Amino acid sequence: MSRLAIIGAGTMGCGIAYVSLIAGHHVTISDVGHEALERAQANIRHTFGSGVKRGKITDQDRRNALERLDATEQLELAVAAANIVIEAAPERLDLKQHLFERIANAAPADALLGSNTSSLPIARIAAATNSPQRVVGMHFFNPVHAMKLVEIVRGEETADRSVEAAREFVESIGKTAIIVRDSPGFATSRLGIVLGLEAMRMLEQGVATAADIDRAMELGYNHPVGPLRLTDIVGLDVRLAVADHLHDSLGGDTYAAPNILRFLVAAGHLGKKTGRGFYDWPSDPG
Ligand code: NAD
Repeated sequence: MSRLAIIGAGTMGCGIAYVSLIAGHHVTISDVGHEALERAQANIRHTFGSGVKRGKITDQDRRNALERLDATEQLELAVAAANIVIEAAPERLDLKQHLFERIANAAPADALLGSNTSSLPIARIAAATNSPQRVVGMHFFNPVHAMKLVEIVRGEETADRSVEAAREFVESIGKTAIIVRDSPGFATSRLGIVLGLEAMRMLEQGVATAADIDRAMELGYNHPVGPLRLTDIVGLDVRLAVADHLHDSLGGDTYAAPNILRFLVAAGHLGKKTGRGFYDWPSDPG
């Protein structure tokens, strides 16, 4: 079993902690401030409670797993005995570089250092360390307990043994890994956004209604959620930022954001979180 340190215990950090604990690993979470750590522990306990209620795990499993969970505000302490570190702090290059410099200095020399970044170049994060060969992207999906994929991103200097160690860990928690070269949007965002942007262009051109465009993919191609509804769920602002990033880095017209996306974002219609995007999302009365 591995000793895991998770740096940044928000949405993703807690999800990664949960699946790792269930798989039998030891997990130390680290975050800034006592409150954030309390919130994270409550969040993880809540997910375990739901797991028991849904019959996914037994109460005994829950208790055993929670005994393997530690928490500390001190990053150096969290990583000191870890053989795998996974960083899930906010998506800012300067922050991740600063964290990785500290992580690489404090973790055992043979520890694998993973980042859950969804878009930043692994090579640039690794460049902040004295050992880029052990830095790898480990891109999980939300909600972590339900999503089977982890994209393992191989930076320019990532060693084969680091990719293999990441793959072994991913398999140990019951997920499937794909190996992707460090390139804009990795595999998932790069492909997924194409469908989303084309669906928006079709809506602009009056090819069909939003609901029918979504139904085309849901019923014709067995996608669980159509591309426009998915954009509403993810957030129009988030998808626009990804499109602009890919457009700037890859060139061509494929990732040029359609006007409808820019207009909706400028008007503050960001999807589910603001109550309106391509659909209306009435607020939950409960
Ligand atoms: P989040 O805001 O929910 O959590 C980030 C956590 O990091 C917070 O608890 C915050 O207090 C903590 N943090 C901030 N500064 C820190 C520091 N200096 N040291 C330690 N902890 C610090 O964010 P999230 O949605 O969990 O995203 C985390 C990472 O995962 C990002 O890189 C994001 O791009 C990536 N990601 C997110 C999703 C998603 O759907 N939310 C999916 C895949 C990947």
